[in-house]
Amino acid sequence: MDKILHQPLGGNEMPRFGGIATMMRLPHIQTSEQQRELDVGFIGVPLDIGTSLRSGTRFGPREIRAQSVMIRPYNMATGAAPFDSLNVADIGDVPINTFNMLDAVRIIEAFYDNVLEHGIIPLTLGGDHTITLPILRALKKKHGKVGLVHIDAHADVNDHMFGEKIAHGTTFRRAVEEDLLDCDRVVQIGLRAQGYTAEDFNWSRKQGFRVVQAEECWHKSLTPLMEEVRAKVDGGPVYLSFDIDGIDPAWAPGTGTPEIGGLTTIQAIEIIRGCQGLQLIGGDLVEVSPPYDTTGNTSLLGANLLYEMLCVLPGVQHR
Ligand code: MN
Ligand code: MN
Repeated sequence: MDKILHQPLGGNEMPRFGGIATMMRLPHIQTSEQQRELDVGFIGVPLDIGTSLRSGTRFGPREIRAQSVMIRPYNMATGAAPFDSLNVADIGDVPINTFNMLDAVRIIEAFYDNVLEHGIIPLTLGGDHTITLPILRALKKKHGKVGLVHIDAHADVNDHMFGEKIAHGTTFRRAVEEDLLDCDRVVQIGLRAQGYTAEDFNWSRKQGFRVVQAEECWHKSLTPLMEEVRAKVDGGPVYLSFDIDGIDPAWAPGTGTPEIGGLTTIQAIEIIRGCQGLQLIGGDLVEVSPPYDTTGNTSLLGANLLYEMLCVLPGVQHR
């Protein structure tokens, strides 16, 4: 039997502003039987009870889908043709408990356990950055400890936030404590602004992470940096976690905790394309907050970065 290859609905079959919004106008696949045939699944996690300033990421998945309607199948820069070799679909949203963080985190982990059991590579539409912890917990059970490429204005390694151990700013501290990361294969890119103490970023460095502060990225292409990043994180499974606030608020204002002096959209593309060749086992794009995204540009950017992630997954054909 020929391999099933779902295709995005074309602009000549249904106007791009019409139809039901799914990621890239792909089919929405819900049944376990059909999910078994998937290679990659886009998943929404509409969580925002982990945010510390401006909320709204609960609307992220829906708006990223709405802004993804322009994306066409072929990557004209890299030659990637993801839909020629991978079976990709939108598998919907995780039904989180929006009144209870610990229950929400439990639900997310169980959802990803099931996704991974079906052999699906997850590409996640967030949601605030809390969601990466339960995803990493599920990935550990399938792949063991993973390497990590983490783009963010913030290190997200707080011990607690307002006394809570699980929130969007504690994700990677918990991940280290729970032994989910291969700490010698972790890179954080784009960190900046102020700390609670002068040593805030050194906690990451002490774990063995390579920390690339935003200033190290200013005024230049990040393609050379990505050579170093690949050398650091290669040698096992790698997860890609992209907090949209890693990018400057000039391009990505629709987020909860914006910081000036960030990466450009072009650098964001260079980072993701620079992950080509790694053993990627999933990725997320988090912290898009549509209520602060008056033009839709932040969601548009998020949608395109998720497409770029799809293009660098193992097994994608190039033309
Ligand atoms: Mn973050
Ligand atoms: Mn952040």
